[in-house]
Amino acid sequence: MACALVSWTAGAVPVVFTADDARTAYEAAGAFVKECTPRHAGTLRGRLAANWLLDRASWCGADASLDPFRDETPLGERPFCNVVIEFPGTKTNNHWIVIMSHFDTPSTAKQPCPGANDGASTCGLLIALADAINRTGPHPDNIALVWTDGEECFKAYGPNDGFHGSRHLVDQFRQKKRSVKTAICLDMLGDKDLHVIVPGNSTAILKKLAKQAAEKAGLKDLLKIDESLVVTDDHSAFLSAGCPAINFIDFDYGPGNAWWHTPEDTMDKISEKSLLSSGRLVAAFLNILLYGK
Ligand SMILES: [Zn+2]
Repeated sequence: MACALVSWTAGAVPVVFTADDARTAYEAAGAFVKECTPRHAGTLRGRLAANWLLDRASWCGADASLDPFRDETPLGERPFCNVVIEFPGTKTNNHWIVIMSHFDTPSTAKQPCPGANDGASTCGLLIALADAINRTGPHPDNIALVWTDGEECFKAYGPNDGFHGSRHLVDQFRQKKRSVKTAICLDMLGDKDLHVIVPGNSTAILKKLAKQAAEKAGLKDLLKIDESLVVTDDHSAFLSAGCPAINFIDFDYGPGNAWWHTPEDTMDKISEKSLLSSGRLVAAFLNILLYGK
């Protein structure tokens, strides 16, 4: 797949993420948890969750679509379904910025996991970002928002287990000969006690731009680039394909990450305030990519 890292365009309207957008994100996350738990990949409830997101994402006025596919897992072939909104850019090129959040819950958890922070929080954030992008666009580059299925593993993370949606997305982009300018993975960003980490395994220039974005958004203390941390997440398939990719994650959820993948991952642990910070950080990062400022 071809990759184009950075090309600036000046003069258009930057994306603004407001307090109303944060409320939208929080309310969408809450409704998603209430109506679509559990939502394990490869199950009927997983597909219902994809349809729920399809409906909710389309409220922004842009066309949302389902991208169903099948993939091998340690339990045999299973059906999956990504949800996609594409915002065509004003430049007539095939460069794309991709922003992802997974929506599935972990079937490996010992007890049912609502995934309020791990999944739903950033699904809500993408819904609110769809509003913000649509409201301020069109923007120079093409932007795809993708709610990925099958991020969680069936048995243990490996080449055929976990990250099915993002690996499928990379294949789709390759087939369509799309050039990935930047792939952005958002994960666990609704935590009331928010500390956003960019792990070391993100593209070097994007780590610099993330720092700039945090400063620009007045959120310098919120973001840490942790060079010693390696996180395998939905951005990894893009890195493997040689494309610029970055992961924004708060992988410190509850005491010693104790709420992660447990029934404790509930809406009372996430906040509108954190989603406002996360949304403003992502919007600032996106504006640097789109407008160089
Ligand atoms: Zn998870």
